[in-house]
Amino acid sequence: MGGTFNPIHYGHLVAAEAARDAFNLDQVIFIPSGEPPHKSGLFVADSEHRYLMTFLAIVSNQRFEISRVEIDRSGPSYTSDTLAYFRALDPDVAWYFITGADAILDIVTWHHPDSIFSNAELIAASRPGYSLKRIQALKQQLGAERVARIHPLEVPALAISSSQIRERLQHGLSIKYLVPEAVEDYIAKNRVYARLEA
Ligand code: ATP
Ligand code: MG
Repeated sequence: MGGTFNPIHYGHLVAAEAARDAFNLDQVIFIPSGEPPHKSGLFVADSEHRYLMTFLAIVSNQRFEISRVEIDRSGPSYTSDTLAYFRALDPDVAWYFITGADAILDIVTWHHPDSIFSNAELIAASRPGYSLKRIQALKQQLGAERVARIHPLEVPALAISSSQIRERLQHGLSIKYLVPEAVEDYIAKNRVYARLEA
């Protein structure tokens, strides 16, 4: 499961666990992205902070892991490169890439769809505010065979986003119960989003 994880929240964790359960996955690997070159106007915390927050969030789950592959790779983080990396690491494994209903459309239409679909199947988790029905509309663009490799999955609906959490921090509002306690403490202790505060 890739993401900026700026910061990681319970929406990410619920989607990952639901996918693990539904598809009987041995493990879920969280892959925080490297520094996005220009996420215009948006503040992205340092990748080491995002890595450590993600680590803290997943550490209690036996089947959750974390990878530095995108953080340690220079240049923009393309999902296609990441999936090629994991495929090469273990060619015999059935790899799945987990995304939310919003991100799936970007990922399969932007970055080398051929390479993505040949290295993994995709799991598209439901997310409040986005419809999984849009996946079927991709048939014309991607072809039925590829779209058949995208598996829609209903997960417990949590209307949480990292943007909303950053906004709350900016306004001095509580983020309790939106992120794991260790993440909340890490943010406060290290003033990760202090730059956003007034
Ligand atoms: P931002 O608001 O900064 O874009 P985000 O909450 O969307 O942050 P990302 O790091 O962009 O988090 O998302 C990583 C992946 O997790 C994406 O595939 C996204 O669709 C999925 N995701 C994020 N939040 C949820 C949620 N509440 N429910 C289901 N999937 C989610
Ligand atoms: Mg997002």
